Amino acid sequence: MAVDATQPYDDSNIFARILRGELPSKKVYEDEHVLAFHDINPLAPTHILVIPKGAYVSWDDFSEKASDAEIAAFVRASGRIAREAGLVESGYRVLANTGPNSGQEVPHLHLHVFAGRPLGPMLAR
Ligand code: 5GP
Repeated sequence: MAVDATQPYDDSNIFARILRGELPSKKVYEDEHVLAFHDINPLAPTHILVIPKGAYVSWDDFSEKASDAEIAAFVRASGRIAREAGLVESGYRVLANTGPNSGQEVPHLHLHVFAGRPLGPMLAR
């Protein structure tokens, strides 16, 4: 079901459970503020999800309420993850679905990192 990005944070969501270690994930990167892991249903040869450890529903919630340290860590880590995965030369795409029209399914902010093949147009017309 599509996420209403204006709702309060629900700590039973699947990424909260991954953060608490209740569910497994294929970890790519971790620091004080950030966790990254492979998407369970990849849409490209490389499909990594980058999430803040804080309880933020969406990009909207995070950009409004996260501390400067959390935002800096999230942006820095996202770039570093792509660099360390060797994605810069061939190129990659980052995407954060936010709310119903975007099709966001998991109500914990996540940045998709797609790479590994030509990714096609940004959106279907
Ligand atoms: P959204 O549509 O919310 O932007 O993307 C949610 C993403 O989370 C989807 O690409 C989906 O495959 C991924 N996903 C859903 N459940 C799990 C899970 O339990 N583990 C992992 N690694 N990814 C998940």
